[in-house]
Amino acid sequence: MEVGMTERPLVLGAHCVETGGIPMAARRAGRGGMQALQVFSAVPKFYNDKIGVKPERVARFHEALGVAGIRPEHVVVHAAYVLNCATPDPEKWARAAAGLAKEFERSTALGVGGVCFHPGAATDGDRDAAIARVSEAMRRALAAVPEGRTRLLIENTAGAGTTVGRTADEVAAMLQGIPAEQRGRTGYGLDTCHLFASGHAINASRAALTAVLDAFEQATGEAPAFFHLNDSEGALGSNRDRHMRVGAGLIGEEAFGWLLQDARAIGVPLILETPQAIEEVPDDDDTPDAWDVESIAQLRDWARTTA
Ligand SMILES: [Zn+2]
Ligand SMILES: [Zn+2]
Repeated sequence: MEVGMTERPLVLGAHCVETGGIPMAARRAGRGGMQALQVFSAVPKFYNDKIGVKPERVARFHEALGVAGIRPEHVVVHAAYVLNCATPDPEKWARAAAGLAKEFERSTALGVGGVCFHPGAATDGDRDAAIARVSEAMRRALAAVPEGRTRLLIENTAGAGTTVGRTADEVAAMLQGIPAEQRGRTGYGLDTCHLFASGHAINASRAALTAVLDAFEQATGEAPAFFHLNDSEGALGSNRDRHMRVGAGLIGEEAFGWLLQDARAIGVPLILETPQAIEEVPDDDDTPDAWDVESIAQLRDWARTTA
């Protein structure tokens, strides 16, 4: 059979609702036919710099992933939003760095493929110094968790305010601050909404999308470790971080089709972080979100049919 005739091995999933705990998120993903999953390891609006993860919680999560048919390396943990590892305020930075290290510890204990984090903001306007502080926070996290297969992954940002990590060069500069012996446990991922909002015209043409991926790959020396598949409510370059369902925003379905046809989308988690059909889900309800299931079916379709 020709390669082109086979179903492309897309590892699609979503950040599933976690009410009832992360094993319930895994059950929802499994019932939704997902191969990838994103979860929080703790309540994301807190620093969680003292919160660990108990072995029995790891066991329950792995059991649920096994039933769901989701490989742990296809799970991404999303770090707390409050961590600003770029801040010039020494006290805030210390707390953010401690929170990132603890997040990395929890994610490594959970045995997931990666933990992604937003690098934060250069509130004093000095972007180079801010980028150096992000590298320093990553080095501390790597030193605090000396081994494990989980990778610490920078997520590109929508570029609101003074946030760093908008461009390939900024993400690459953060990774360049990691010593060679630790570099393999780090990497980055790309959020399509953030790319578009920060001024990357990924929907202009297939060539334009490819050029953006090439720029990140050339600057960092590697392909993204994951993608967040979110459409954008905000315009190109608006720096607005407002996710919409794929195909329903200003990016549009064609760009998602092109992305999924790129070799760099194969084998890595492709995660929806888009609005849910039902936000309030009972603890014991493992029904997958209808909009996530529909979006994943659309994405598989666009991967086959987009010209
Ligand atoms: Zn994110
Ligand atoms: Zn976002």
